[in-house]
Amino acid sequence: MGGLTTDPEEARRSPIRPDGQQETYVVLSDEERAQGFVRPVRRSYVHEVCGTVTTMGIAIAETYARDPSFYGATFCVACRGHFPVGPQGQFTWSGTTEKVGS
Ligand SMILES: [Zn+2]
Repeated sequence: MGGLTTDPEEARRSPIRPDGQQETYVVLSDEERAQGFVRPVRRSYVHEVCGTVTTMGIAIAETYARDPSFYGATFCVACRGHFPVGPQGQFTWSGTTEKVGS
């Protein structure tokens, strides 16, 4: 993983690395994540389009667990790009039928 920030603007301006990932991703602050999770902390998801599993860093996984609709898109290591999450999105938590971001 690259860098993390709690500033959404900084993440939006982040350059894209040669592997397709952003240089910097936004996460909820430690204080906000310490308020408690509304979903299990899951580290891996499946891209339904290609079937590949991608594993996240813990801060991003905890941000999803604290606020499941925080992100609009996420990264696939095989496709090397960001694609939509949510009820109509392209990702499922690994080992489940639950959509990422819903
Ligand atoms: Zn993919």
